[in-house]
This record gives sequence, structure tokens and C-alpha cells, in this order.
Amino acid sequence: MINELLRENIKNMQPYSCARDEFKGEASVYLDANENPYNGPYNRYPDPLQWKVKEAISKVKNVPVENIFLGNGSDEPIDLLYRAFCEPRRDNVVAIEPTYGMYKVCAAVNDVEYRKVLLSEYFDIEAFKLIDSANLNTKIIWLCSPNNPTGNKLNADEILKVLQWFRGIVVVDEAYIDFSDSQSFSTYIAQYPNLVVLQTLSKAWGNAAIRLGMAFASVEVIEVLNKIKYPYNINILTQEHAKKVLANAAQTTQWVQAILNERTQLIDKLKELALVKHIYPTDANFVLVKVDNANIAYNWLVNKGIIVRNRSSVTLCGDCLRITVGTPAETAELIAALKDFGSVFK
Ligand SMILES: *Cc1c(COP(=O)(O)O)cnc(C)c1O
Repeated sequence: MINELLRENIKNMQPYSCARDEFKGEASVYLDANENPYNGPYNRYPDPLQWKVKEAISKVKNVPVENIFLGNGSDEPIDLLYRAFCEPRRDNVVAIEPTYGMYKVCAAVNDVEYRKVLLSEYFDIEAFKLIDSANLNTKIIWLCSPNNPTGNKLNADEILKVLQWFRGIVVVDEAYIDFSDSQSFSTYIAQYPNLVVLQTLSKAWGNAAIRLGMAFASVEVIEVLNKIKYPYNINILTQEHAKKVLANAAQTTQWVQAILNERTQLIDKLKELALVKHIYPTDANFVLVKVDNANIAYNWLVNKGIIVRNRSSVTLCGDCLRITVGTPAETAELIAALKDFGSVFK
């Protein structure tokens, strides 16, 4: 099934074979990869398939190692999915709107038509709308739950309907799943070989700088991604650090709890401000807030050295700011600045 979706050139190509693909295991003398014999351990190429890191992720996320792909951030599997499945100028993808900007950027880079399907007024999906806008050349449907920049999780039954009716790849980007009470769609990968679930160490895990994104999918999809990725896409510094981070999942749980508590505080304080018109429900570590005049409020905050995301030009997000939940001190600064703004512009 997955094979039928693949681009012809990807189906037919031979992947790069590196020295460490040919010989696996432990040896005492490595003279096979033209490495410098000095400066261990950085002189050696890292494990191209990152098995140790995957074992750690497997334990934490309850996904078998063979169903895991690791990328240089989620950005890498997003781009690789286009390159594997979408024939430039012929195929298309369907995505919810508004959502994370990278799906559209990667479509443009790969010269693939990007079809937008508007979310409902509650920022939720209707499966039939997504299916209706797909045709025989639609290779990927992009979903994001909890969604960015709206913050809400999508209706799980509707996602399942998409999986039941659409034969192409269905991506569920779960970058914010650790902040949500919803169950990961990774539990469905055995049932739907066309499902790809994306997660990342960049948000709840507090490690945006090391660039580690995860894709959970059927062995067929994982093999395709492995076939076309750069051979050593995850460097040794990232692999080593990721193992430490994953061994300390309790830290992440603590951070998530602190952020969720602070999110409640932030929302309560925002509610008291006259300039705040609406606070959208959130299942993530940010809130989308409709304000009186987002552009002016945004610039006011910038002048005070406080940067939020101005989403006012995004579809369905007129006059909206997206505010990340920070520390209690950061919340206090933000609220004080917004109060000043309110008293100047009333
Ligand atoms: C932040 C974010 C990511 C993370 O991307 P990385 O490349 O892993 O840092 C992925 N998807 C969404 C929707 C995001 O908001």
C-alpha cells in the first residue's frame, strides 16, 4: 500500500551505503570509514539509525523501536514526507487552516500544491471536508493536534474518520501532546500503515536547541524515510544529550505541571484585562488571545522588550496574539505591560 504511494524515483533508487551499514557490531580496529584515529569519541561517525536513542524513546513513548524515525527536528520528517511521496507539479497535499507554517513552506520548496481546508469556528476539523478536497493526486493530509496557533486538540473521532477514508499518508503532528490530556495517535500505527505521528523534544522536553524530532509510523513508512535521509542526520552531541534527557522523564513531567499551573494563572489574569476580547481554549503551552488591536498591542509589548507572536494576519485569527506560557515572573511582566497599555489606550 505504502509502496504504491511512493514517487517512482524513490521507489527505484538505491540508498547510500555507508561503512557502518556494511559492518555492524563491535570491532577493535576501524579502518573502514576514513576517519581520523585521534580525537575520540568525536572522530567516529555516529550511529546512522540511532538505536540507543530509539530504545530510550521506545520506553518513554511505548512505541516499538522499528516504528520510530528520528530527524533534525520535526522539520526533517515533514520535508522527507514530501520528497518521498509528492511528485512536484503533479501531486498535492491537504492541510487544515490555520496551522503550523512548515507544512506550507515545505510544499513550496518541493513544488507541491498545498490545499487549505478551513477549520470550524471552534477550530475543529470536519473529516468529510478534508476528504472532499482531496483527489487521486492527494498524497498527504496534514493534521496538527493540539493545533498551532489555535491551541486546541482536534476531535479524535474525526481524525479516525480521515484515517478510515483516505488512502494517502495522514500526518498527526503532536508537538504539544505532552501538555494535553488526550491519548497519542501513536497507538494506532499498527492499525493504519499510512499514519505518521510527529512528536519532538522541542517543547515539553525543553530541548529545542538539540533538534530532535520523532516520527512514529508503520515499518513501511519508516523504511522509506530511512532510505532517503542524510546518512548521519542526528549528530553524536544530540544523540548523547537526548539519552540523558529521556532518562530523566520525571523532570519533563515536573516542567509540564509547572507550565500547566502557570497557564491557569496567565488565563485568569488575562481575563481581567479590558483589552482582552476572547481567550481560546488551549491544550498546549500557549494561549491564543483576541485583543482590541493586536498590531498596536504587539508593538507596545515589543517596546517593553516582551515578544509574543502576532497572529493577526492568520486566517480566522484576526486581532489574535499567541502567547507562550513562561515563568511566573514573565507572566507578571507581561500582565503589567498589558495593564499599562490598557490605561494609555482607553
Ligand atoms: C514547535 C512545533 C514543532 C517542532 O518542530 P521541531 O522542528 O521539532 O523543533 C512541530 N510542529 C508544530 C506544530 C510545532 O508548533
